[in-house]
Amino acid sequence: MRINGLPHRISINTRLLRISSKSRNFKWAASGSAITTSILAYYYFNEKRHSNELSPDHFIPYKITYNDEIDSEHFMLELTPARPQKIDWWKAMSSGKLWSIEIKQPEIMVVRNYTPLPLEHVGNGQIRTFPEGSFKDGKLFFYLKKYKHGEVARWLSKLPEGHTVELRGPYVDYEMPSQSISSSAGKVKDRVSYDVVTFTAGTGIAPVAQMLLTNKAHFGRVLMLHSCGARQELGPLQPLLEEAQNNKRIQLHYYESRHGRDIRKIPYEVLALLPTPYSAESAPVEENSASTVNPILALVCGPDSYINTVAGPKYGLLQGPIQGILAQRSWNNSNVYKLS
Ligand SMILES: Cc1cc2nc3c(=O)[nH]c(=O)nc-3n(C[C@H](O)[C@H](O)[C@H](O)COP(=O)(O)OP(=O)(O)OC[C@H]3O[C@@H](n4cnc5c(N)ncnc54)[C@H](O)[C@@H]3O)c2cc1C
Repeated sequence: MRINGLPHRISINTRLLRISSKSRNFKWAASGSAITTSILAYYYFNEKRHSNELSPDHFIPYKITYNDEIDSEHFMLELTPARPQKIDWWKAMSSGKLWSIEIKQPEIMVVRNYTPLPLEHVGNGQIRTFPEGSFKDGKLFFYLKKYKHGEVARWLSKLPEGHTVELRGPYVDYEMPSQSISSSAGKVKDRVSYDVVTFTAGTGIAPVAQMLLTNKAHFGRVLMLHSCGARQELGPLQPLLEEAQNNKRIQLHYYESRHGRDIRKIPYEVLALLPTPYSAESAPVEENSASTVNPILALVCGPDSYINTVAGPKYGLLQGPIQGILAQRSWNNSNVYKLS
């Protein structure tokens, strides 16, 4: 019986199994397709949400919301993302990182890097820094130079407000090195901030302006030596630099070639201003009242010929040897960085 009954039970069970496995198959298929649909929907919407965010992987649209000439060679550009951004890159990049984005010129399919500043146009040509803690949903501001035969900046300078351009990024161009010191108890710790000397020419001032306006906690005072035709070509950056100078955050020296003050003609004046490099150990730790700048690091940014005069040649992505003015005051590859 048991033997006879066995196949029967088996067959009943098999049938049940088959029925139940059929319905289970159906359920599996139904729930499987629901899961697949949810996964696809998740990826689709996630991808869509992320594709609205600034990323080095794809271009996203920004509207020109301000485009104004400073003089015949310099202009300002404010770009507002077509969709408000969720990521606050100013916060993400705050620990001593200098960054840029790329703008695409679609007609000739080339891109160029530009350095965003946390500034905005508030009407009637008035430019101000972002209110504390705000990133204005991803708005970006640029200080630009157009070259007579240059492709991208010249094209940008002519675009009307309301026009859409495509951006990707951000790209970290430089990260300020952390500097360690030994405390009296013999413990090694990072210096919270340190002084910097910067040599800039023309729009090469943009990374330093970015650093001044955003990385407030990371560095102490800045000895700034800026070369330009005349300081008026800085447009809205000029009053911001004056304010930083009044607050004793920077010591700013202009070298205006239109007034005969090209650093190549007056190197002795630059050498008299430039201290020899301090080390993290030897530079006094943060004394806001002190009037001297004790730089540990030198940053150089400008056209190739300018970089050559100040710090020796840069070979593409390679830093090259430290020569020129900085070498004459004993600066070297361990404490000088030539930005692009
Ligand atoms: C990280 C980074 C950040 C930057 N940030 C800024 C910024 O904030 N602001 C800014 O203004 N720039 C910035 N730049 C520079 C910017 O990327 C461009 O290099 C600049 O705008 C010039 O590009 P262009 O297409 O207008 O000119 P290009 O076409 O690249 O021309 C540049 C120069 O070459 C000359 N030239 C072009 N074609 C010829 C030719 N056939 N023969 C001889 N000479 C020629 C032009 O006259 C011009 O002097 C940054 C660069 C980097 C790498």
